[in-house]
Amino acid sequence: MKKVTIARGDGIGPEIMDAVLRILNAAGAAIEWEEIAIGEQVYLSGNTSGITPEAWESIRKNKVFLKAPITTPQGGGYKSLNVTMRKALGLFANIRPCVSYYPFIATRHPDMDVVIIRENEEDLYAGIEHQQTDEVVQCLKLISRPGSEKIIRYAFEYARLYKRKKVSCFVKDNIMKHTDGLFHEVFREVAAEYPDIATDSWIIDIGAARLADTPEIFDVIVTSNLYGDVISDIGAQISGSVGLAGSANIGQACAMFEAIHGSAPDISGKNIANPSGLLKAAVMMLNHIGQSEVAEKVENAWACAIEEGLHTADIFREGTSKVLLGTREFADAVVERLGQQPKKLETQHFARDFTFRIPGYERKVPAKKVLRGVDIFVDWKGKDPSELAMRLQTLNNGIELTMITNRGVKVWPNGFEETFCTDHWRCRFERPAAQAAEEVDKRFIPQILEKAVVEDIDVIKLENLYEFDGKRGYSLGQGQ
Ligand code: NAD
Repeated sequence: MKKVTIARGDGIGPEIMDAVLRILNAAGAAIEWEEIAIGEQVYLSGNTSGITPEAWESIRKNKVFLKAPITTPQGGGYKSLNVTMRKALGLFANIRPCVSYYPFIATRHPDMDVVIIRENEEDLYAGIEHQQTDEVVQCLKLISRPGSEKIIRYAFEYARLYKRKKVSCFVKDNIMKHTDGLFHEVFREVAAEYPDIATDSWIIDIGAARLADTPEIFDVIVTSNLYGDVISDIGAQISGSVGLAGSANIGQACAMFEAIHGSAPDISGKNIANPSGLLKAAVMMLNHIGQSEVAEKVENAWACAIEEGLHTADIFREGTSKVLLGTREFADAVVERLGQQPKKLETQHFARDFTFRIPGYERKVPAKKVLRGVDIFVDWKGKDPSELAMRLQTLNNGIELTMITNRGVKVWPNGFEETFCTDHWRCRFERPAAQAAEEVDKRFIPQILEKAVVEDIDVIKLENLYEFDGKRGYSLGQGQ
């Protein structure tokens, strides 16, 4: 008997959780449920994280968590519990299958069957933001080799296990050559270890457009956090209804399963919510804990009810639907069909031998790292960058100012008058050309900072410029 933590959540949460538990228990899931309280009541009791230490303990002990949607109160500095949980529990992979159930549920994409696998911990969601000047704020985009390798390997393992044919990588490395470039490079490396699976790569903009237009050309998509967040909602929406999709958040130790929709306060307590999203999440959970036969039984019974036109209000359409059911009655219909096989809908993706292991990351031999210079970012209210250059240039200590940019565009030397400048400037210091082959002496850096203090120029940030095994580890300025 496996112990699983559950939370009934807020709004429609308790209704859909009751429906799901009834179906799972009737299907013979060998699970003992341990209930915790999270969400609105916990927030409003003064706990800004929305979760108590006892609830954490239950999740960390049982390692598997089925969660109904919760309401995050507006204002008041309440932290998103989902983001907190993903990060605190190391749930690095977000898996969201987007499948259409044509002709039983209306969709423009009858053949859609895409699984979106989104990195869940880093990228712009690392939550590292700073205001640096009056005019400029910054959010750090962090892409790591271990983070990329884990999620990409997960996508290939998933594809292999669920007999998927292709993994597509979505990036924007034509612009972000280092961050998205690393993700893409790791994708190519890992792909080479899975010759049985086809691959392709898409720039996120055209990839998202094709996903919205012709989703049937995709199979598994792997991408970083922000892009994944956006395209997984597009995917769920165009497959038929956001009320039908479940998602899994998987880590090395723990896993959390939930519907993708929210707590729907507008329909709460009316027995009209569709429990399918949470049920799909529960099916993923059953597979995850090795109870694939129960998963298949539940999925088949659900598909039978959908095929027979037994629909909740959100998917009910004259013509395709037959009987309008409430949440409880829909759950009853699924229970009654346990053991039956659907006639048309395919209920694929069931892995009987649950051998899914994510290999741990092995650190590579460190590259030879050589300091080539430094970027000093300053808050300066002047207008003419040559004045800033003059004030910082006079060091003459074996490192020289080679470029000033404003929001990445080169404005000195030889900038354009047309370039709009904010109060946020990057001053790049490098070896003079004649000594370029020599490594920069680190002691030059504090000397530049001291010079800035003397000149009353506010240094807001500093980035060292490194070469790794002879490869430049920083971008050039636009126009450099
Ligand atoms: P929502 O997903 O709750 O609702 C959007 C619309 O879809 C509503 O009209 C709702 O009635 C409908 N809907 C959603 N689920 C349905 C279902 N199962 N059956 C039938 N109709 C359904 O999004 P929202 O209104 O933007 O957010 C409401 C609350 O949910 C907010 O407090 C938000 O913070 C929270 N939320 C929680 C989660 C989560 O816990 N994972 C996710 C998203 C939003």
